[in-house]
Amino acid sequence: MKSQSLRILGVVAHPHDFTHFAGTCGVHTSLGDVVTVVSVTDGAGTHNVQLEEEVFNLVEDKNVSVADAGSQGYSSQKEGELKNAAALFGVSDVRILGYPDKPFIAGRHPGAVKDIADIIREVRPNVLISQSPYRTEHHSRVSSVPNDHVESAVATLEGVREAGSARYTSNALPHKIALTLFPGIYFNRDEWDFTIDIGDWVQQRIKAEEMYKSQGHTPEFARKRIAIGVGATGWASGTGYSESFVRSSFEVLSKISVSDASLLQASETEIEQLKRLSD
Ligand SMILES: [Zn+2]
Repeated sequence: MKSQSLRILGVVAHPHDFTHFAGTCGVHTSLGDVVTVVSVTDGAGTHNVQLEEEVFNLVEDKNVSVADAGSQGYSSQKEGELKNAAALFGVSDVRILGYPDKPFIAGRHPGAVKDIADIIREVRPNVLISQSPYRTEHHSRVSSVPNDHVESAVATLEGVREAGSARYTSNALPHKIALTLFPGIYFNRDEWDFTIDIGDWVQQRIKAEEMYKSQGHTPEFARKRIAIGVGATGWASGTGYSESFVRSSFEVLSKISVSDASLLQASETEIEQLKRLSD
């Protein structure tokens, strides 16, 4: 079968969560694949550095305009940040469902499942990149407290099931997704299935990180975060910078497949590898 262009759907909890697989999106849009990104919440309750500074101020120092302004301006700022960041990676179809965060609890918002199912039936993706339903935080700590990332995954995977099912009361054409992936950042390294080399997109990853001014990100922080985060994933992969993924289940392949990157790594000497990593 000849290779066809892919339709990829990323569904994240908060606007910033897109960045964890942004470089991979860039790799695919540059190959002619089409990417849609959906944020389940508007992120209004997450990483609001200005509000946090404000509520920690002593009463007499309070700038009440920050706390009284409400979340509207903050959530539209985040929407703009996500759209601008996505554009860096060739992604123009960005949708914010706008459910409340901190906490987003899937069971309280059945509309989110329907919204996601509708988008799946419309976009008809081959590949879904979803929040992980297995882990709660970026640092692999599992807790029983409901977490926006896990709850968004629950809504997303419910939406997947809904979109793939024929219903008596609906004429909507079902759609099934061929491959579901979770960003590896929610997993321990030994659980990753593969990483994607995003060396050509690292400058955009830094720029995207910088764009989230609402979260207090500065150019210095952006450079450091990408160097130690995406760089560590790259280092573990024998390359400069990469993004990791976990498959939702094993996949049937038509034959044993070895990537060009693995073949290259197997063919080079240690000196050659050090030279490549220094570039
Ligand atoms: Zn998040």
